[in-house]
Amino acid sequence: MNLESNLPSARDKLLFTPGPLTTSLTVKRAMLHDAGSWHFEFNALVASVRERLLELAGVSRESGWEVVLLQGSGTFGVEAIFQSCVPPNGKVAVLTNGAYGDRIVLMLKQAKIDHVVLRTPEDTAGDPAALEVCLKDNPAVTHVAVVHCETTTGILNPIAALGQVAKRHGKVYVVDAMSSFGGMPIDFEACQIDYLVSSSNKCIEGVPGFSFIFVRRARLLATEGWARSLSLDLLGQLKGFEKSGQFRYTPPTHVILAFDQALRELEAEGGVAARSERYQRNHETLLAGMKRLGFRLLLNPSVQSHIITAFHYPTAGFDFNTFYRKLSDRGFIIYPGKLTQVDTFRIGNIGRLFPSELEQLVHAIEAVLGEMGVRP
Ligand SMILES: *Cc1c(COP(=O)(O)O)cnc(C)c1O
Repeated sequence: MNLESNLPSARDKLLFTPGPLTTSLTVKRAMLHDAGSWHFEFNALVASVRERLLELAGVSRESGWEVVLLQGSGTFGVEAIFQSCVPPNGKVAVLTNGAYGDRIVLMLKQAKIDHVVLRTPEDTAGDPAALEVCLKDNPAVTHVAVVHCETTTGILNPIAALGQVAKRHGKVYVVDAMSSFGGMPIDFEACQIDYLVSSSNKCIEGVPGFSFIFVRRARLLATEGWARSLSLDLLGQLKGFEKSGQFRYTPPTHVILAFDQALRELEAEGGVAARSERYQRNHETLLAGMKRLGFRLLLNPSVQSHIITAFHYPTAGFDFNTFYRKLSDRGFIIYPGKLTQVDTFRIGNIGRLFPSELEQLVHAIEAVLGEMGVRP
């Protein structure tokens, strides 16, 4: 694969964020067309995107799986599952150790869906034994929800072990794999997944505009009449695709064009295994450089993903805003803001980025720290 032609355009700053992220020039170029959402050629493209997503996930229609595309960012896809696939008297057990797990709790509060929260500190993975106890104590629980890679810190939750507990208790298992799907292998069967959600602008390296939800068709059909929302009704959306091949309401046409190209580039790269390896190399390059500069990681390596990494501030009273602005002036955008409880900042290494760009970032960080007079 000729990587040159897939480099981002020279004028854009590089995004070391977990999405929207740096995309290839060819993905951006794919959007320079007008597509009619009701037109058969566009519908064929949507059908092809859905088929290739199933393939990418390693599941198939023959074994009962479906994938539903939904307008909006990833949050809309997660919320659609709870808004439309939890029965009126359902109850959800949520494992959380960061902002995205907390967002699920907010959604449930907003929808007035009964729930129980299993919270672990943000540097500690969700605990299957604690889930076991929770499910024994709460027989009314119908669904278990967890974030795979909690993007707040980059921590990986043990979705296979948690899924096995959920299944042993006969619960429906929901996984937010927004920032991991496509960037690391996920075995749907081994993890006992019922619903898995991701979005167009993370490891597939497309642009933002829709989410996609994998679900067993029979399970989704059984949710008839449960939807609390019209536009976030997953079964309604599936029926739309099956009846007319279309999104129910105006689709993000340009985003789909870009996503089709992003899928081609993922396939050309060698699929999820090859992409996972590149992200791993990016991550290792970043780690080696940052350690050389004296930075310390928030997480223990045993739970650290190769998607995004949280680093402690190099010194007490470190001026993150100046650091951020100076890196931006040099063409490098890191993840702004502080989400974690302790003073950390985060660097993502997903997107159309290669180890050489992570090396450039580390050099820029070294220079900026020098300018700021900071010695980690
Ligand atoms: C990105 C992300 C989401 C979705 O966030 P949006 O702002 O709606 O794109 C949800 N969960 C996780 C773990 C994410 O990384």
